[in-house]
Amino acid sequence: MEIRDDMEKKGRIVKVAGPLVVAENMTGSKMFDVVYVSEKRLMGEIIELKGDLASIQVYEETGGIGVGEPVYLTRKPLTVELGPGIIESIYDGIQRPLNIIYEKVGDFITRGVHLPALDREKKWEFEPLVQKGDIVAPGDYLGFVQETTLIKHYIMVPPGISGKVKDIRKGNFTVEEVVAVIETQHGDTEISMIQRWPVRTPRPYVEKLAPNTSLFTGQRVIDMFFPIAKGGTACVPGPFGSGKTVIQHQLAKWADAEVIVYIGCGERGNEMTDVLLEFPELVDPKSGEPLMKRTILIANTSNMPVAAREASVYTGVTIGEYFRDMGYSVAIMADSTSRWAEAMREISGRLEEMPGEEGYPAYLGARIASFYERAGLVKCLSGKNLSGQNDRIGALSIIGAVSPPGGDLSDPVVQATLRVVKVFWSLEDQLAYRRHFPAISWLNSYSLYIENISEYVKKNVATDYFDLQTEAMRILEEEAELEEIVRLVGIDALSSQDRLTLLAARMIREDFLHQNAFHEVDTYSSVEKQYKMINTIIYFYNKARDYLQLGADIKAIENMKVRDRIARMKYVPQSELNRIDDIKKEIDTEMSSLIEE
Ligand code: ADP
Repeated sequence: MEIRDDMEKKGRIVKVAGPLVVAENMTGSKMFDVVYVSEKRLMGEIIELKGDLASIQVYEETGGIGVGEPVYLTRKPLTVELGPGIIESIYDGIQRPLNIIYEKVGDFITRGVHLPALDREKKWEFEPLVQKGDIVAPGDYLGFVQETTLIKHYIMVPPGISGKVKDIRKGNFTVEEVVAVIETQHGDTEISMIQRWPVRTPRPYVEKLAPNTSLFTGQRVIDMFFPIAKGGTACVPGPFGSGKTVIQHQLAKWADAEVIVYIGCGERGNEMTDVLLEFPELVDPKSGEPLMKRTILIANTSNMPVAAREASVYTGVTIGEYFRDMGYSVAIMADSTSRWAEAMREISGRLEEMPGEEGYPAYLGARIASFYERAGLVKCLSGKNLSGQNDRIGALSIIGAVSPPGGDLSDPVVQATLRVVKVFWSLEDQLAYRRHFPAISWLNSYSLYIENISEYVKKNVATDYFDLQTEAMRILEEEAELEEIVRLVGIDALSSQDRLTLLAARMIREDFLHQNAFHEVDTYSSVEKQYKMINTIIYFYNKARDYLQLGADIKAIENMKVRDRIARMKYVPQSELNRIDDIKKEIDTEMSSLIEE
C-alpha cells in the first residue's frame, strides 16, 4: 500500500494495547479499511467498529505510540500488488519486500518503512498477444513478460474491464507504464502491468471444478497411498524433527506445480531465517535453475508483530490466485497455520471477544475454512488460451502445516483444519525415530481424493493402480493386527500365511514407502515407477502365497535372493524401468526352484 500525502487525517488514538490501537472519531470508515497510525505512519487495519470507535490491528511495533496521536484514513482495504517482479520476491505478511528492505535498512525492519512491493524502476519486455480492434474481457491475455527463465508472466485484463483494444504497445516498460488502452462503455481505460487486489476477497473465476487430476509429487507414500488432487487441500502436522521441512522442500521441488508460494509463520526468529536461507539454495530439478525462479516467499519472523502474521496467509493466497488465473498450477505451502491461529487468538483476546475453545476466537473454524476454500481447480475468468481453445483451467492447491502443542491432534486448530481439508499426512515422530522417512503414518493418514482422481490415474498410469494400493493397505493393516499377536505369544505362533503377510508388509514399508530424499535417484519416483514397484511386491506376495500352498517353506521364501533386487528397485533410474519388469521373471524362476528342491 502506498502512502499518499492527501490521506485524510481523522481519528485520534485513545488506547494502545500491544498490536491493537483504539481510535475515536472514526465514523465513515469501514471494517478492514487500512489506516496509518500516528505521525510514524504505522500501517494497520480496522478490525472492529463500535460507534465512532475503531479497533485497529497494527502491523508494526506500537511501542512509543501514545494517546492523542492521529490516525490517517485510506478508505481502502488491504491490497497486494500483482505484476512482473513478484516471482523470486521475499515479502513480509503485508507484502513489504524484505530482501530490498534488508539491503536498505539492515536486519530489523525500521518502523514506518514503506517500499512498493514491485520495483518501480525495472523495465520489463512486454510482448503483446492482442491487436488493435480485438474485443477483450476480464482475464484475457493482453501480452506477457518473460519474468524469469521459468515463468512467463501473462498480463491479463483486470476484473471488471472489457471492451475494444484501442492501443497496444510492445517494448520495455516499467510496471506502472501504460501497455494497453481499452475502449470501454465508460470511456478509455489505460492498463499497466500492475494490478491491485484486496487480500481478503477471493479473486473471481467462472466456476470451481471437481478436482479430478492428481498433483503428482514423486513421493511414493503420497502419490500412491494418500494422493492430493490438483486444486486440493492437505494438512500435515509437524512434530519437531519428524521431517516437516524435508517434506516441504520435496513438494516444492517435485510437485507437479508451476508456481510455488511459501508462507512461513515462524515461531522463533531463527526458524524463518532458516527458510530464508534454505529456499534460495534449492535447485529446481526439472530445469536445473534456482527454485526461486518460480517461487514467492512470504516470511514472518517472530520479531514482527502478530498482526502481520494474521495478514500473511491472505497475502499469500491472493498471489497464488493471481497465477492460477493465468492458467498455472500453483501450490501454496503454509507453515505453520498454528502460528497464524495464535495470532488470531492474541488479537481476539485484546479485543476482549468471548473466547471459544482454548482461548481461540469462536470464528477460528470459519477463518480456517475460508482460507482452504480459496484452493480449487477452476475454470478461469477468461477461457482464452494461446492454443486458441477456450479451456483455460487454473489450479491452486493448499498444503497447510499445523504444529499443535505437544503434537496433540485434538487441538482446536488441527480439528478445525481436518474438518475442511481432504488429505491428512500424519507425520509421526516414532517413525522418524526409527528412521522411517518420510515419516508419514500409513495407518493414520488419509486422502479423500482417490475416487475423484481414479479415472485420471486409470487412464494415465494403470487401470489397477488403486487396486494395488488397496491390497497393499490391507497387508499393512493386517500387519498391525499380527504384530499385536506376536507381541503376546511370539512369532512362532503364526501360520506360514501370516508370516508371509508380515514379510510382504515389511517389503511394502522398507522397499516402497521408505524414500530417501537425499538419494540422487530415490528422491523422485515417477508414478510409472511407483506402479511398477508396488506391482512387483504384490506379485511376489501372490506368488509366494501360491507356493506356500504347494508346500514351499516360509523360511526359504523369506531368504529368497530376489528380495535383494526388489529392495533395490528404488534406485533404478527412470530410463531403465524395464529392469523392474524383469524382476518378475526372476521371482518365477526362484519360486519354482523352492519346491523342486
Ligand atoms: P522438522 O522440520 O520436522 O524438524 P526435518 O525436516 O528437518 O524435521 O527432518 C529432520 C531430519 O530427518 C533431516 O535432517 C533428515 O536427516 C531426516 N529426514 C527427514 N525426511 C527425510 C527423507 N525423506 N529422507 C531422508 N531423511 C529424512
